Amino acid sequence: MTVIRQILNDVRAGHRLTGEEALRLMKVRDRRIWDIALTADEIREQKVGNVVSYVRNQNLHVTNICKNVCGFCGFGRPKGSEGTFLYGEDEIRAQAALARERDVTEICMLSGVHPDFTLETYEDMIGWVHDAMPSADIHTASPDEVTWAAQKSGVSIEEALKRLRAAGLGTLQGTGAEILVDSVREIICPRKVDTATWAAVIRAAHKLGIRSTATIMYGSVEQPEDRIAHFSLLRQIQDETGGFTELVPLSYLHQNTALYNEGRASAGATGREDILLFAVSRLFLDNFDHIQISWGKVGIKMAQLGLCAGGDDLGGTMFCDAVSVDAGADEADYLDPKTMERIATDIGRELRQRTTTYTLL
Ligand code: SF4
Repeated sequence: MTVIRQILNDVRAGHRLTGEEALRLMKVRDRRIWDIALTADEIREQKVGNVVSYVRNQNLHVTNICKNVCGFCGFGRPKGSEGTFLYGEDEIRAQAALARERDVTEICMLSGVHPDFTLETYEDMIGWVHDAMPSADIHTASPDEVTWAAQKSGVSIEEALKRLRAAGLGTLQGTGAEILVDSVREIICPRKVDTATWAAVIRAAHKLGIRSTATIMYGSVEQPEDRIAHFSLLRQIQDETGGFTELVPLSYLHQNTALYNEGRASAGATGREDILLFAVSRLFLDNFDHIQISWGKVGIKMAQLGLCAGGDDLGGTMFCDAVSVDAGADEADYLDPKTMERIATDIGRELRQRTTTYTLL
């Protein structure tokens, strides 16, 4: 029996993958990718059944002005440069009112990390949205934003998290994780918090009962070893806290980014890498219930294949995703649940709407 077949049999029998085993799976380049995907699909079915879930959400991009200007991002721009925008109170309230009309259950406030924003700024913005939609989950504040706001306002991370929650924060964004290996972060996002700080903020949030997503942005400069190191840290945190709602794999969109244009990053993950990322995350992250397939990053057809390779969630309707559109994605703005239903039923699965924390509606 080949080593890959043996590993897959062991996983089916309940064995927890080691990092070395996961790395072997991640490096497969031949037809055995389908064996790995099939095993991930079986484990998905055992764990969460045949539902494909989605959340009715709306992105709210308050600003694209960003102190970090990460090389893999086509959205964030330095303060004072051309093409920047910054919403004020009226625009934020108007966006929240629009979301209410659309019956969304989650507002995803996804913005640049504005260098002038303090904790009070975040409290105000969350409060304006909360006023308009008190029952919606306000999903915002990455560990980098929390750290920045806490520093600007001279409070601890814990204090900052408590105040954001009091203002109306529902769940924390596990964004800004990118690849949780500092040597990679130095290339792709040198101004963002380091790995230890990202993990510390997430642990602090989970300890307070604030749940978060976990993300991985893959396909730029990192190696398979880095992806596995990233997964290992996520699995360790989840063992400790149980606070992650899901893993959101974010395939690198290279077209309009400095890293790619300067020849320092690849043109993104291949289809093989996307499938293996979904499947190996399902197999390695045995303490995660949900693996989201981000249609805005991989496209609708690949998203359906991702649902056959360990994924069980299609993320949100979004209504607008300037972050992906600015990076070059051409179908990232809105996905009608009718299209999601077609994707799900076509592979014998049932589409169900969920809340941010995966209660089915
Ligand atoms: S990825 Fe986020 S932090 Fe980095 S430049 Fe883009 S908006 Fe700013």
